Amino acid sequence: MRQILIVEDERPIREMIAFGLRRAGFEVVEAEDCKEARTRMADRRPDLVLIDWMLPDMSGLELTRALKKDKETKEMPVIMLTARAEEQDKVSGLEGGADDYVTKPFSPRELLARINAVLRRTASVGTDEVIEAGGMALDAAGHRVTVGERTVPLGPTEYRLLSFFMTHPERVYSRSQLLDRVWGGNVYVEERTVDVHIRRLRKALEAFDCDKFIQTVRGAGYRFSVRPI
Ligand code: CA
Repeated sequence: MRQILIVEDERPIREMIAFGLRRAGFEVVEAEDCKEARTRMADRRPDLVLIDWMLPDMSGLELTRALKKDKETKEMPVIMLTARAEEQDKVSGLEGGADDYVTKPFSPRELLARINAVLRRTASVGTDEVIEAGGMALDAAGHRVTVGERTVPLGPTEYRLLSFFMTHPERVYSRSQLLDRVWGGNVYVEERTVDVHIRRLRKALEAFDCDKFIQTVRGAGYRFSVRPI
């Protein structure tokens, strides 16, 4: 059974979420602060973590950043729960490494849709074929991209994005097409999210001199191309 860890100090909210997720067939583990969350994760690594922005010992954003920096936990999908509806906070949440965010108040149904979308897009593609382009090797079975002997450090969304690009090269995709193909048509994700993840993907590829393959096509979208511009 897939396990979800909820890190939220407000008990009624935590219990409401836990109830909905258990009913949807997930195993749920609860933590009321970051310290407890760490303990729970050490017991068993959850398949996804819901992290509230405002927590008593450390902010949810800091916890997310810490998880995404650690190679043991960086692949673990994170959805941030935030009461702050401001655009800037959403963007900082995503730049901190969260795979998605949900603004309070949300309905259990909306949360479930987001969880399923994140789990879908972070799931392994399930093929043994290795695709090579621009010196990078996409190993879908191993769920990683390597350049020579080195593994490119990618978050789950960046992996999905790069994997999509490498399997669909030399074609321009608009933001909405990318949302459809990479994010699985999640209606709650805004087009700006695509730019945030493209930025993160390029940053990860920079060290390998491969960021140049992710090209911006003005007024149209993005293209993966290993041909000279
Ligand atoms: Ca809280």
